[in-house]
Amino acid sequence: MVDKVNTLSYFYGNITREDAEDYLRQGGMSDGLYLLRQSRNYLGGFALSVAHGRQSYHYTIERELSDTYAIAGGKSHRNPIDLIDYHSQESDGLVCLLKKPYNRPRGVEPKVGAFEDLKEHLIREYVKQTWNLQGAALEQAIISQRPQLEKLIATTAHEKMPWFHGKITRDDSEPRLLGPPRTNGKFLIRQRDTNGSFALCLLHSGSVMHYRIDKDKAGKLSIPDGKKFDTLWQLVEHYSYKPDGLLRVLTTPCARPDNDGDLSIGRPPIPQNHPGQGAASGILSRIKSYSFPKPGSKKFMAAFRSKTTDNLNQYATRPESTKNAEAMPMDTEVYESPYADPDELRTSTVDRKQLILEDGELGSGNFGTVMKGIYKMRKTEKQVAVKILKNDDNNAAVRDEMLREAGVMQQLDNPYIVRMIGICEAENLMLVMELADLGPLNKFLQKNRQIAVRNITELVHQVSMGMKYLEEHNFVHRDLAARNVLLVTQHYAKISDFGLSKALTEEENYYKAKGHGKWPVKWYAPECMNFFKFSCKSDVWSFGVLMWEAYSLGQKPYKGMKGNEVIQMIESGERMAAPANCPPEMYELMKKCWTYKADERPGFNVVEPRLRDYYYDISQ
Ligand code: ATP
Repeated sequence: MVDKVNTLSYFYGNITREDAEDYLRQGGMSDGLYLLRQSRNYLGGFALSVAHGRQSYHYTIERELSDTYAIAGGKSHRNPIDLIDYHSQESDGLVCLLKKPYNRPRGVEPKVGAFEDLKEHLIREYVKQTWNLQGAALEQAIISQRPQLEKLIATTAHEKMPWFHGKITRDDSEPRLLGPPRTNGKFLIRQRDTNGSFALCLLHSGSVMHYRIDKDKAGKLSIPDGKKFDTLWQLVEHYSYKPDGLLRVLTTPCARPDNDGDLSIGRPPIPQNHPGQGAASGILSRIKSYSFPKPGSKKFMAAFRSKTTDNLNQYATRPESTKNAEAMPMDTEVYESPYADPDELRTSTVDRKQLILEDGELGSGNFGTVMKGIYKMRKTEKQVAVKILKNDDNNAAVRDEMLREAGVMQQLDNPYIVRMIGICEAENLMLVMELADLGPLNKFLQKNRQIAVRNITELVHQVSMGMKYLEEHNFVHRDLAARNVLLVTQHYAKISDFGLSKALTEEENYYKAKGHGKWPVKWYAPECMNFFKFSCKSDVWSFGVLMWEAYSLGQKPYKGMKGNEVIQMIESGERMAAPANCPPEMYELMKKCWTYKADERPGFNVVEPRLRDYYYDISQ
């Protein structure tokens, strides 16, 4: 949402209330003159400043749990723009109707908050340290999980701030503040108990003042009768800008003695009379290195467990196990290739002695059955899926097909694609793959109809990331459909079934089939049917159908229609209607994927960023 709002001419970004008042004065203070700014206390929220009777009025626009926006107690709207449109017609609790936006003067860009500036660096460091990722795996993790990571960072960043002294007593805090330098406004924050309350300790004329910071049921933090904030760093930023009930503004952060990094060493004094550059932003801009608690460590778990009471966002909690519905892809053992560890021998054949097949079938297909198994590697044991060729099918062609599928899979290494671990030739020919326990996407959606649109979008976006990777590496999938997307968790999808896939040559960007086969016609683009031509663009068409399946919660596309009826429908220019409750933006994208002419159809290089933007937009 911030991205969309950022382009509005009357959006000023992270400016203070006082700055907003200055702007409205510059604009003449006519009744109903307004501007929009970013909330400095609520994550993802906004504030509306309105002039009336030569006075300024400010309204917080909160982002609600249902992803809608509302002024406290008011009507919910899809976004802040709709809210403003509404209040141009109805005052409905506002001091007056919104009459005229005060556009940013020439040369004024929306102000970027101090935290915003650092977010990028923090996220990168967090992912690097928490999951020990680098290169493409790191980039892909950030792209696919940015909204979750941003929230996680925002709610845990204070732990690395030099002013955050953790769980120390009131008595312990005082000597720290009374030590040199004895600057008025020197401050620290300590944790009071496990219920998530804190204390702000502030040096004022030689004595230490202690302000309780309570956490309400919704997870909002405030000093008694004070403004509420989503995070401690926002609170610090606010009170370093103005006292707002404290005896004085926060100036110098009192450095934690055990500060892990070098955050407090040699820090120059914080400028005090520079609006918007208070203590917090001063510290933030100096932070260079972080060491986040390692996953599984006591500190890590404590940090996340303490967030489970927050309903600030669903992502602030961390999973205790990879089976947890909230686990991020990087938390699972199939995010990186098993061979990413240099100590593991990269091999395309699996020794039967190292493979244990377990009871119970994961599924079955043309080749035979897919069983669960354990593959004993040098350092670890991995749960795997094993595709077992039927023995009675001693048909060389089927065997070749399976080996061809293995050959394709072996060349692919992406978090959103089921990786092959190896081929095992024993009692049967077996294809050992990463395990995606939750099974095919269509079936999962049929059984979990309560799933949020955001969750569906997250999964569909991941599929587009996997497909973009295939496109970049010149592979066509040719069987992309919801049944061939397997879920590792509710938040992690992988593309599978490369039985029909082909590597394209440098010269040709399409594959020409020799004849019509047993084809999934309802997923195929017109050029596949008419000219047997398969390209990444025809995969994009299939992806559109996959999107339709996903937003319709696993329904069959073109229900009740025969293949040739579908072909006729497409040729006549008709397309499937939008699934019920499908976001219009996503239906528009599906229709783009169903552009008749392949060269006018977008590639995954266009589809993926579109999905990404929409996903971020609804996740902020
Ligand atoms: P078809 O060609 O008929 O589509 P197939 O013989 O190629 O089928 P798959 O579709 O690859 O077989 O697998 C059949 C089923 O086995 C899948 O629908 C899924 O339920 C299960 N399965 C396949 N691979 C995995 C995996 N890596 N992890 C977990 N389950 C899997």
